[in-house]
Amino acid sequence: MTNLKERMQDGRSVWYGGKLVTNIAEHHAFRGTVQTIEQLLGLQTGALEQELTCEGVHLSFLVPTAREDLQRKEKAYKIWADATFGIMSRLSEYSREIETGWYANRKYLATIIPHFDTKIERIYQNSRDRDLLSTAAAQDLQRNRSRATVEADNGQLRVVKKTEEGVIVRGAKTIATAAPYVDEYIISSFHKRSDTQRALANTFIIPANLQGLQIVCRESFASSDAVNAPLSARYDEMDAVLIFEDVLIPWEYVLVLEDPDAAWKLQVDPVAAALSQHQTVVRLKSKLQSVAGIAYGLAKSADVTGFLNVQNDLANLIMQVETIEALLRTAQHTGELHNGIFIPNRQYLGTARNLGTRYYATGVEAIQQIGASGLLQTPATTEELASHPEWREYFSASDEFDSTKRTMLSKLAWDFIGSPLGSRHALYERFYSGDPVRTYANYYNNHPQQQAFTQFATSIL
Ligand SMILES: Cc1cc2nc3c(=O)[nH]c(=O)nc-3n(C[C@H](O)[C@H](O)[C@H](O)COP(=O)(O)OP(=O)(O)OC[C@H]3O[C@@H](n4cnc5c(N)ncnc54)[C@H](O)[C@@H]3O)c2cc1C
Repeated sequence: MTNLKERMQDGRSVWYGGKLVTNIAEHHAFRGTVQTIEQLLGLQTGALEQELTCEGVHLSFLVPTAREDLQRKEKAYKIWADATFGIMSRLSEYSREIETGWYANRKYLATIIPHFDTKIERIYQNSRDRDLLSTAAAQDLQRNRSRATVEADNGQLRVVKKTEEGVIVRGAKTIATAAPYVDEYIISSFHKRSDTQRALANTFIIPANLQGLQIVCRESFASSDAVNAPLSARYDEMDAVLIFEDVLIPWEYVLVLEDPDAAWKLQVDPVAAALSQHQTVVRLKSKLQSVAGIAYGLAKSADVTGFLNVQNDLANLIMQVETIEALLRTAQHTGELHNGIFIPNRQYLGTARNLGTRYYATGVEAIQQIGASGLLQTPATTEELASHPEWREYFSASDEFDSTKRTMLSKLAWDFIGSPLGSRHALYERFYSGDPVRTYANYYNNHPQQQAFTQFATSIL
């Protein structure tokens, strides 16, 4: 395993505010998050080695052959998710599981995609043995959404030339969460490409320091104040647009080239999809537990738990957690072997992921409703309560929530839902797994019981 900070100095082109970032780990936009990732990685060789790793590698690289393997993975994901309130979604287990799934299912995939098995073997083994971090970028720039042809938009990432060394690509992919920190990017297409879009139907796994690749970051939501903005100071994962201006991608990184059918089969490969979605549902549970915990704390500190509407809101938040928990259990319990790989049941994971896009919004609303003005009834800094002891009685709520605790809780809650980081998360939970309008429609269109529901309706007439 190599050091994260050293790896980030590999010559990758990370842009922030129009300037090339020369030292990512020390830059104000990234410092706190890099420290968090380092701490989490450190757990693998420290106190939680047993829970996080198997034969020296993180469990996200384990090819599961039995239900117990999924349970071990779940525990490992949960440790990192809980350590970040479920906020850090791209600690890499998600995209590592895509790689692991493709690797595990490589023999089958090689029957559709020539040389897939040898390429993914090399990529997977390199990532696993070096404990590399990764992310995925699958979406085109947001423009011309109503037009479907490749000519419609020069911004779409496409192959412009093939050479002996590889393919030259031009265009962009968006948005790649965690792009500045990670070592590799999985570049693919969210949507199925048509025959007229062959130039766009590619799948690559590329290193972050690929020559010519520009990683253009959004505005940072990071804070340097770990006391008053505890989440923003630690967990801003950053999102970036990846710009390829005639970049050479060597053949070894090209998994699919201009093949809509193969690109789509890889994108929806049942093994990679099930393993990666498994991680997202574990993280979702952790995030919803944080929502419920914060709402409970706010309700208790304001002494409003006796009101029916508050009880209803709190009950709803717990039901959300328990629903996701039940779906996760069922997905694991009804999982089965697929080409010798034990995968969770995607139907239940899909239900959980779709529900999550709405649950989180409901959770934010509950925190607003319960917290009310208490979310902002704080001094600018917690520290000033020390220099102004005479104010403490005004900012305290009860013996349990003295002025410091109450102020810290309100600031935590505000950071969770009201800060720029919090707003980003509301958007993230709604969209990270695709546009919910279409994921719900896909759920309906692909549901295995669709016929049965229709038959029921006609049978009772
Ligand atoms: C914070 C955040 C982090 C993200 N991180 C990642 C990441 O790491 N990797 C990654 O690959 N992606 C990431 N995503 C992007 C995610 O994949 C997209 O947001 C998602 O696929 C929706 O695409 P879009 O945002 O371009 O919205 P659009 O597709 O442009 O949709 C915009 C609006 O138009 C409607 N619309 C557009 N087209 C259609 C259509 N054909 N039919 C019906 N309605 C339509 C949508 O319903 C929506 O209301 C992230 C998104 C967010 C918000």
